[in-house]
Amino acid sequence: MLKDLLDGYITQKDVLSYYNANISYKLLPIGINGFVFNYKGINNIIINNTISYYKRRKTLLHELAHIELNQLCQIDKDLFAFHINKYEDDADEYIKFLLE
Ligand SMILES: [Zn+2]
Repeated sequence: MLKDLLDGYITQKDVLSYYNANISYKLLPIGINGFVFNYKGINNIIINNTISYYKRRKTLLHELAHIELNQLCQIDKDLFAFHINKYEDDADEYIKFLLE
């Protein structure tokens, strides 16, 4: 799915509706580009609104990779629990893999 987006076959809107996801731009602490959590079947992607356009795009892809790789925790756990290093690396490796 993300591969199709990167290759230009589908739009960001298609991906968001496929994954039942929505994006909010919010003021987040410095160093946190974004995060994603699933609540009642909806994937909520939160992106720092102070980062550059390029970084926002990159963060969005990263969060979508978490969704595609099924790395989301439940809301009752720590929101940032899934941001453990292994998952962070996996998400980034996956994007790299798709871009090759
Ligand atoms: Zn992440």
